[in-house]
Amino acid sequence: MPISDHVTAVLRGAVQDAVAEVRTRIADARARGGHGQEVTLVAVTKTHGPEAVEAAYAAGVTDVGENRVQEAEAKMAQVTVPVRWHLIGHLQRNKARNALQFSLIHGMDSERLAVALHDEATRAGQSLDVLVQVNVSGETSKSGVAPVDVPAFAERLHRLPALRVRGVMTMAPFDADERVLREVFAGARAVRTALQSAGHAAEWLSMGMSGDYEIAVEEGATHVRLGTVLFGSRT
Ligand SMILES: *Cc1c(COP(=O)(O)O)cnc(C)c1O
Repeated sequence: MPISDHVTAVLRGAVQDAVAEVRTRIADARARGGHGQEVTLVAVTKTHGPEAVEAAYAAGVTDVGENRVQEAEAKMAQVTVPVRWHLIGHLQRNKARNALQFSLIHGMDSERLAVALHDEATRAGQSLDVLVQVNVSGETSKSGVAPVDVPAFAERLHRLPALRVRGVMTMAPFDADERVLREVFAGARAVRTALQSAGHAAEWLSMGMSGDYEIAVEEGATHVRLGTVLFGSRT
């Protein structure tokens, strides 16, 4: 067979094996955690080409994540498989219109961005699923709403009916020990409860990356965002 077909076959085999391994680990972590949630595997394809998306789809993955709008759009144009696209990175307000082609915006981290997203969705006559990104650890390098500010934010989101507030997204500190990871993930879960108390149908918790997804699932994650464990390191 031509060399390019051979490369594709090798990539598909590797991704298939990685997805199988990850699914087993997710199932085990879910059983240990006892939250009984469904877990969606979001394959993070940033820096990888469209063939990574197609390999993930061939392995049964239906959800892919990208952190930059431009890179995502380029890939969307090249990919033919019907995956759901998640925007997992920080979104600039002037790119709010581009958000409409994603099935879920994980990084809604300010009221100004929320208003911009609402305005674009309204203009397009559609609604938009969003997660409130929270900064549980308080690291200044991370975006996200502080947990104490969430109740007031949740009230103001009621004025933006084109947004459907589906839950919470968070990122744990890199290389933190297990105790800190659990605190951060449990903190995100508490924020989800605050959104629900404010009347939002917020059932999702997007948390967990390659280094910490098993702990995240034990703590109730409904969406894990995995790049490195599926596709190898990004160079
Ligand atoms: C890159 C990225 C991921 C995936 O990270 P891995 O450690 O490669 O699994 C998850 N979430 C966000 C927001 C990212 O930017």
